Amino acid sequence: MEDVIQLLPDHVANQIAAGEVVQRPASVVKELLENAIDAKATLIKLIVKDAGKTLIQVSDNGTGMSVSDARLSFERHATSKIKNADDLFKLSTKGFRGEALASIAAISHVDLKTKRPIDEVGTHIKIEGSYVNFQKDIASPKGTTVLVKNLFFNVPARRNFLKSNIVETRHIIDEFHRVALTHPDITFSFYNNGAELFNLPVSNVRQRIVNIFGSKTNEKLVPVQEETEVLKISGFVFKPEFAKKTRGEQFFFVNNRFIRSSYLNHAVNTAFEGLLRPKTHASYLLFLVVDPQSIDINIHPTKTEIKFDDEQTLYAILRASVKHALGQFNIAPILDFNRDKNLDTPYGFDEKIVQNPMVDFDKAFNPFKGQSSLIGSKQSSRGNHINEWESLYVGLESKSNVTSDNFKEVYFESDENQNSMFTDEIKEIQKTFQLKNKYIIHTIKSGMLVIDQHRAHQRVLYEEFLEQITIKEAISQQLLFPLKLEFGMDEINILETLRPQLEQTGFMFSMVAKESMELCGIPATVNNEQALLVLEQVVYDAQNELPDTHFSQTDMLSKSLAKSLAIKSGQYLSSDERDHLVNKLFACKDPTTTPTNQPTFITINVEDLDKKFM
Ligand code: ADP
Ligand code: MG
Repeated sequence: MEDVIQLLPDHVANQIAAGEVVQRPASVVKELLENAIDAKATLIKLIVKDAGKTLIQVSDNGTGMSVSDARLSFERHATSKIKNADDLFKLSTKGFRGEALASIAAISHVDLKTKRPIDEVGTHIKIEGSYVNFQKDIASPKGTTVLVKNLFFNVPARRNFLKSNIVETRHIIDEFHRVALTHPDITFSFYNNGAELFNLPVSNVRQRIVNIFGSKTNEKLVPVQEETEVLKISGFVFKPEFAKKTRGEQFFFVNNRFIRSSYLNHAVNTAFEGLLRPKTHASYLLFLVVDPQSIDINIHPTKTEIKFDDEQTLYAILRASVKHALGQFNIAPILDFNRDKNLDTPYGFDEKIVQNPMVDFDKAFNPFKGQSSLIGSKQSSRGNHINEWESLYVGLESKSNVTSDNFKEVYFESDENQNSMFTDEIKEIQKTFQLKNKYIIHTIKSGMLVIDQHRAHQRVLYEEFLEQITIKEAISQQLLFPLKLEFGMDEINILETLRPQLEQTGFMFSMVAKESMELCGIPATVNNEQALLVLEQVVYDAQNELPDTHFSQTDMLSKSLAKSLAIKSGQYLSSDERDHLVNKLFACKDPTTTPTNQPTFITINVEDLDKKFM
């Protein structure tokens, strides 16, 4: 038989390599920014359009390339950064594999313009899917500009698997942060869809952090500083009270390279033990310097994982240093009589009066008695709370009357079947019980339903929000005093994108600035205290793409809001509230699952019970 093995042509090999190097637009951004840094640039400009799907451009004022280097730079394993294997252990550059440009050029349209300071003219190369279209002289400033257009044009599977623009932009911003944080000595700018997102002048590390994460960040930082023989640590942790429910800023840099390490993350978290509110995450930006000989960064093609020689020691030193830093900060307020009030009140709520936590509810409320019970004697004593409780299920009453049949057509096609589960007699004596303030037990003809109250309410709210956003506007409560909320610049960007849908649900913005915004109206279902948390969660969910949201912002937003606002398990519900929730659940289009496909209830038949007694 004939021999069957052959060497793959370069363009095929490059495309295969690209699969590892370029997972998404953000990977291109990372490689191009790192190349600019390796070229000793002091000025780097990043331009992104359409989350990098149509354009990623990085311009630098670095060393530039000669005519033949420019051509060679697109060959695989072409690098100026290492010459032999020993060099791997004394790396001072970000790149070294010589794969990035070859990989990128294999799966996109690349335009490279570059000029060295000593050259009269620069060179311009155009490559499409590894094929060089042309190379010619060009008048250009010193440095290099790389344009990457139509990423994955020849790998449709990859292109189709890209996430929404918000998610892909989030990844790009993450990469930009990582690079910009480690190089405060370089001026960076970042334009996203024509708008300037970041403009970072040369500064110290702390100032760079503040420039990236917003001016409020400064007061949140606690410096960490430690120097031992094996490890030098510098950087900052966020004061514990600024810990976020959503994973906040968590950065490790080892020898100025961003790395992921759940092991080191654990070390920091244990240092925070006892200081964080439940379910919140510590934020930190920590720079570790170790002997390059003691680590191996070669184990992952995108180089965010790392192997340390002596992990245990690192863990212990890191944990101790963070603990030490936090300890110093905790003692400070006791000694200092002019207390910094920022230490006490998180989230810039300094001026606000403390209010009871939502959700309060009127135990005597009976939705079937109509409005009259709301305006009854209790209203005067309980005041707003009644309205707040009612607003928990806002629009439930009105939906069936006010909403026209066309909504029914869209969402509730199968009401009849749902109702048939309850026989007429049982309906009259129908009883619900609450178990552990978590489950609602509901008797039905064939046995009973065990309903998860939190999940059931998620389903109800989800369908309500969908309806509000797509069909009708929700009622918005006008705030007497606008609520000022602080966000990062990129978070504001996301809220801007979602603004039309948010307004449909009742969030009204009176002002949106670079790092803050003012709400003049909030949905009837939300109170002032919740507003910030709910919006933070929305931003987080948008950035991380909730499962099954199918790129639909409306769906994502409805899921996110429903999750944040659904009554929690652990909350007592009166019998009317239970009935109400159960009725609302079974009026839903799909009462059986939460919007994220978890079951909302289980059925236990009498036969099942009978078996248990056999
Ligand atoms: P690596 O960075 O691993 O060496 P790349 O494919 O990213 O591999 O780049 C190949 C080579 O092209 C680099 O080694 C460098 O010599 C050159 N190069 C790439 N980008 C630039 C740039 N912005 N300025 C100057 N030279 C560059
Ligand atoms: Mg590189």
